[in-house]
Amino acid sequence: MKFKSKNGSEFFTALIKKVDDHIARKNGNRFGNVYIYLKGIFLIVLYVCSYILLLTINLNSYLSLLLVILMGMTAVMIVFNIVHDASHRVLFKNPAHNRMAAYLGDLVGMNSYIWNIRHNMQHHAFTNVAGGDILIDNIPLMRISPYQKKYAIHKFQVLYVPLLYMVYSIFWVFFLDLNMFFRKSMANHDNIKHSWREWLKLIFFKSFYVFYMIILPAFIIQIPFSHVLISFLVYHIAAGILLSSVVVLGHCVEGADYVSPDESGIIQNSWMQHEWNTTYDCSTDSRMLHWISGGLNTHLAHHLFPKLCHRHYYEVTRIIRQHCLEHHVKYPHYSFGKAIISHFRFLRIQAHAADLSK
Ligand SMILES: [Zn+2]
Repeated sequence: MKFKSKNGSEFFTALIKKVDDHIARKNGNRFGNVYIYLKGIFLIVLYVCSYILLLTINLNSYLSLLLVILMGMTAVMIVFNIVHDASHRVLFKNPAHNRMAAYLGDLVGMNSYIWNIRHNMQHHAFTNVAGGDILIDNIPLMRISPYQKKYAIHKFQVLYVPLLYMVYSIFWVFFLDLNMFFRKSMANHDNIKHSWREWLKLIFFKSFYVFYMIILPAFIIQIPFSHVLISFLVYHIAAGILLSSVVVLGHCVEGADYVSPDESGIIQNSWMQHEWNTTYDCSTDSRMLHWISGGLNTHLAHHLFPKLCHRHYYEVTRIIRQHCLEHHVKYPHYSFGKAIISHFRFLRIQAHAADLSK
């Protein structure tokens, strides 16, 4: 499976030149800086302190639930702000440091090796392409592309999808990663064999996660098991809602293209044009959204220039918007509120779209 070309238009050549010039003015440093590292340390400290407070201090139930929600959201922020950049190898200049930082993802429950295949080799390489982007056929209950098999239940997906988002994080930790390890093929990757090292890491990190999240609080510190279980579920509901909102608002909104390669495996577009057609920005002026999502609200900048640390996206987005104005090209963007409305309209459209799956 491949694209007709990498770039293929004057519009993108000029845009790449502007972004390259911008990075050159920043001393050519594509990687993280002190601010990004301090933010990363702050998020890790917040996660660890929330955990220690929950285990050691007898808080009233409202306060402890708030702390559990904060901890769940912080886990996702660690993934967005540290693990994501590390997996794109742009957090640090040194590749070994990026690999170490990616293990933070394993510590909060997700397998960073599977994430690299799903996110970098599939989602970024073949965004919204049937048979290329594993995100499309991850969850059969949810239809986001006409190239996905259509089931009668999809008619109701607008109603039940919010529930799927609530369980997305727990589903990822306990099912998705394991399922990927047992599969022989993932989208366009066939005959996959995982090394024994990756199997060992999977078993070690998943066991450690269950140990510190459930066994230690319930059976060693002896907090009532029902409290631990409720806290664990609330933690994952908070994490799931934040995780899925950011994931779907970049690609699952009206206007985002979903395509399939032709018989010879060629996608009839340049890669850059394709990324442009499949990705939407969301409230890019919101510094808060940018801070929480690790720049993923400036999703277009990330997909067009994945070799840049997210600290550059805000400025790169400004360049993209200006470039659109100069070339009279529509800038693919929704405000946060409109993106949510559009996402549910998108789900209704996809539920009824003709079945083009083979
Ligand atoms: Zn990415």
